[in-house]
Amino acid sequence: MTDEVILGYCVKEKTQKPMNNAQLITLKNGKQALQGVCASCGTKMTKFVSAKKVAPVSA
Ligand SMILES: [Zn+2]
Repeated sequence: MTDEVILGYCVKEKTQKPMNNAQLITLKNGKQALQGVCASCGTKMTKFVSAKKVAPVSA
């Protein structure tokens, strides 16, 4: 159940792609986001998440 695929928007490919190495970060404004790299091309991607929808991310 830990093998959850996280989709993020890849700005390079202009489409949704699975995110690798996703880490939950907290922004200066208190919002949370998942930051990782595109599984397809390696571009850094950020996916904003709502606080109530945050899923635990295994390291
Ligand atoms: Zn990509």
